[in-house]
Amino acid sequence: MRFEIVTIFPGFFAGIFEHGIVRRAQADGLVSVGIHDLRNFTHDRHRTVDDRPFGGGEGMVLKPEPLAEALASLGIQPKNTPPPEDATGARTQVILLSAQGQPFIQPLARELACLDRVVLLCGRYEGVDERINELYCDMELSIGDYVLSGGELAAAVVVDAVMRLVPGVLGNQASGEFESFGAADAEISTDIEGVPRSQHGSGGLLDYPHYTRPVEFDGLRTPEVLLSGDHLGIRRWRREQQLRKTLRNRPDLLAKADLSAEDVRLIEAIRRENRR
Ligand code: SAM
Repeated sequence: MRFEIVTIFPGFFAGIFEHGIVRRAQADGLVSVGIHDLRNFTHDRHRTVDDRPFGGGEGMVLKPEPLAEALASLGIQPKNTPPPEDATGARTQVILLSAQGQPFIQPLARELACLDRVVLLCGRYEGVDERINELYCDMELSIGDYVLSGGELAAAVVVDAVMRLVPGVLGNQASGEFESFGAADAEISTDIEGVPRSQHGSGGLLDYPHYTRPVEFDGLRTPEVLLSGDHLGIRRWRREQQLRKTLRNRPDLLAKADLSAEDVRLIEAIRRENRR
């Protein structure tokens, strides 16, 4: 899988993808990342990428022409252009990072991981001329309800979250299906053509707490059940912890979670316990 990032700050990405799983995935040839300097697609002495907004107002806007040229250099034409004769059929999506975008959530990361190529456009200033969005972008993505000063951090978040779900990247960890947000059926508002919705997941709950050596740290002991070798007991404990943590930190997730009758009974018990 290939990621292409279009940015006015290519230096931002120096080193950011050179650690841990992300570095290994590239070294193993499972994924690659191309960084493209938007200023290379300008033609004036000052390498101008921005201009004042029509209608007045604060700030500057990224001009459409350099972005369109950058996309053309990646073989991407406006969406309404018929595909060229020699089109490879590779599945590409163009994504505009934007605070106005749909939320970037794990099911969407899972869908993007099935593509051949993801192109990420990083906005700056007040954002990107809207015609780039209309003509080229398959979706606008927001990484959260706050405003960043540029799309670069958001692009790095998307690359990291998607990359680790590419088959083979997590090795024998079966594509993170038992991690937080491993929901089977969380709804997303985008349907990517030709990409199956994932059928697996941790039931839409947050992950359980993890412990490692030493058994006791600063007066706190690892829960006995995890040391017991009782696999059924461990599974039960972990499920209960998932329910407790989700109830405490993200109760909104419970409405969509895949809950058994036993889970529902436990949630009621935890709620009663919390009321006491
Ligand atoms: N005027 C824009 C608005 O109010 O929505 C904010 C522009 S922001 C200062 C500059 C760029 O940062 C955006 O074009 C976008 O690429 C990126 N950005 C800001 N917040 C983001 C978020 N929550 N998710 C993804 N990208 C974001």
